[in-house]
Amino acid sequence: MKQGLLIVVSGPSGTGKGTVCTELLNQTPDLAYSISATTRQPREGEVDGRNYYFLTKEKFESMIEAGGFLEYANVYGNYYGTPLKKIEERLAAGEDILLEIDTQGACNVMKKCPDGIFIFLLPPSLSELERRIRGRGTETEESLARRLGAARGEIQIGRQYRYVVVNDTVDAAVKRIQDILTAEHCRVDRNESLFEEIESK
Ligand code: 5GP
Repeated sequence: MKQGLLIVVSGPSGTGKGTVCTELLNQTPDLAYSISATTRQPREGEVDGRNYYFLTKEKFESMIEAGGFLEYANVYGNYYGTPLKKIEERLAAGEDILLEIDTQGACNVMKKCPDGIFIFLLPPSLSELERRIRGRGTETEESLARRLGAARGEIQIGRQYRYVVVNDTVDAAVKRIQDILTAEHCRVDRNESLFEEIESK
């Protein structure tokens, strides 16, 4: 059985990675989403077990102790983590899994899973990022400045990823990610069983 691909997508807040990942999942039937655990409160409309597993701090910390996370990080004062067991099972079953996680978490996954596919999503420019965050209408001037400062730092870390995709339009960004996945599936080192099968015929 061919092992599935572990795909990690990150990008600064406001880049539109949630929208790109949702659309990528809609347009890629063989791709499954890894539901993260978090200690933050659910937002309106969010469902436990669909958007996140919403856990108490105590439960999250006991899962850390038990080695239950592939990675976890503290983002804006809350824990976020990727449950390990399901990922292992799904990859072993040949499923491609998408993780949408922050840069700290992604750097930890890079160390543990160097064979993962690390994709950094960039906004077309910092001024466009500012326009998009303002457009949401959820930030004060102070938190906007904080997010833009954080975005510059995250973009620096983006240089450690393997792939970079600019989110100019959602459709174009989704198409580029699909092309990356196609190329990764075609790598010789992922296809030993294909060689053996063809050689045996
Ligand atoms: P939000 O609270 O807006 O859903 O997510 C805040 C940040 O946490 C985003 O940058 C998101 O990518 C990141 N995040 C979500 N799930 C995980 C996870 O399992 N691990 C890590 N390290 N970051 C996560």
